[in-house]
Amino acid sequence: MFTNLVSAFNEVATTNADLIAYDEMGKTTSFGELKTNADHLAAWLDQQALPDKSPILVFGDHQVEMLMCFMASLKTGHAYIPVSSDSALPRIQSILDTGKPSMVLAIDDFPAANLTLSAPVVDLDQLTKVFATDAPLNEHPVSGDDLAYVLFTSGTTGSPKGVQVSHDNLVTFTNWMLGDEFEIAEKVNYLGQPPYSFDLSNMYLYPALMSASTIKAIPHDVVENFGKLFTALPSLDLNVFVGTPSFADMLMLSPTFNEEHMSNLTHFLFCGEELTVKTAKNLQTRFPHARIFNTYGPTEATVAVSQIEITPEVVENNDRLPVGYAKPGVELSIWDDDKKVEEAGVQGEIVIAGDSVAHGYMNNPEKTAKSFFTIDGQAAYRTGDAGVLDEDGLLHHKGRMDFQIKLHGFRIELDEVRASLEKSPYIKQAVALPKYNKDGKVTHLIGAVIPKEQPEDEAELTKQIRESLKDQIMPYMMPTQFVYRDSFPMSANGKIAVKQMIQEANQ
Ligand code: AMP
Repeated sequence: MFTNLVSAFNEVATTNADLIAYDEMGKTTSFGELKTNADHLAAWLDQQALPDKSPILVFGDHQVEMLMCFMASLKTGHAYIPVSSDSALPRIQSILDTGKPSMVLAIDDFPAANLTLSAPVVDLDQLTKVFATDAPLNEHPVSGDDLAYVLFTSGTTGSPKGVQVSHDNLVTFTNWMLGDEFEIAEKVNYLGQPPYSFDLSNMYLYPALMSASTIKAIPHDVVENFGKLFTALPSLDLNVFVGTPSFADMLMLSPTFNEEHMSNLTHFLFCGEELTVKTAKNLQTRFPHARIFNTYGPTEATVAVSQIEITPEVVENNDRLPVGYAKPGVELSIWDDDKKVEEAGVQGEIVIAGDSVAHGYMNNPEKTAKSFFTIDGQAAYRTGDAGVLDEDGLLHHKGRMDFQIKLHGFRIELDEVRASLEKSPYIKQAVALPKYNKDGKVTHLIGAVIPKEQPEDEAELTKQIRESLKDQIMPYMMPTQFVYRDSFPMSANGKIAVKQMIQEANQ
């Protein structure tokens, strides 16, 4: 257990100076080098007379320099705002307007000419010189309730909200990841795939840094290129996988993503979207000795707040997999509007309270007041997720509240329809989409399906699917229309872009 992120990092990096901290497709950086460069940048930042605690925007992909910038910010009391270099211009502008960073550290080319900004932009050339220049550093690191990072949400509608995550939020999360529940050894290899602009990246970044482990980083262009990705993976000697279930589904297209070729992969840590029975079963077949964990949480509660190990028994006993028990320091509850539901087994909105709850949305008191509140003096967050708590505190996620629809008077969870559709042996993956009329009422459901085999006759396949699901799905949940796809669109964070699919179905 550690109490300050920066001092813990300094200690790990000094004790393990020669170990590899970061390996980006063969380009390696030791802990010593990472710390030295971060220290040099921190000393330089202090000479720039930036306003105290003002946030610093860090722009790039998976380069090790991103980590140097994060650490230098934290060492000088600044929160950082990680922004992916493939972000659309309006998103970057909105982040600049809301986040008001005092400086932009740009590892990739920053499109400043097409943006309105007042902060200075420091490019990689200049940063490289700074990294190489020694200067005395008087650390005054973030601590306690100081913000560590501000992460902008990736909603497909409206402007992004900047979630303010404090130093202590991040410390309690990282200590939990490195504790008894997950039993991940020190000095191991983590897969570094989720981008730093997605909070799931913190599930490998800080646990790896604090345990003298190596991050095997995969840049965006490799993730996008199946050939390169599938060739690279078995050679990374991974021990810990961190990612979305969709990313694991993609990797399972590769014949070498299995225990035979990746025998040291002992842990799969999932978060960010539903881990389906199908994905879990496939994974258990491919990696019979690995441990699979489902974790749940929104960015607003610092990456994840519940976990459960998905054993073959858990898969056998559940139609939809549970998302786990609360992390210590966190209390999960179910609410019906503004009232806490006391009985177990009742569905309502998941509310998270405790030391993982972030400090609201940056410069957005209205949205903050809508979702953040306190319960008996503890910070709390309304997730907008539907869920049920068992007698023994096990949480079941039932989809987004805004993915609950009414059809002919029935309340339907789109995710439940999806889960039912995926029971058909003809279906590889499915998404249920509501079709609205011009008054905003749902008229029927569309089943968007990736079939196991491409059909010669779609009408015939639809008939077979209906037949195969006869006893598996409530009749009112059966889609009246089926559309067949090769793949589903993905969001920047590697989740199925359901909102986009709903929009497209209703154009
Ligand atoms: P984000 O803030 O991008 O991490 O998204 C958080 C949302 O992802 C949550 O509010 C849930 O709707 C969804 N989510 C996260 N983890 C899980 C999980 N294990 N199962 C189902 N949905 C999840």
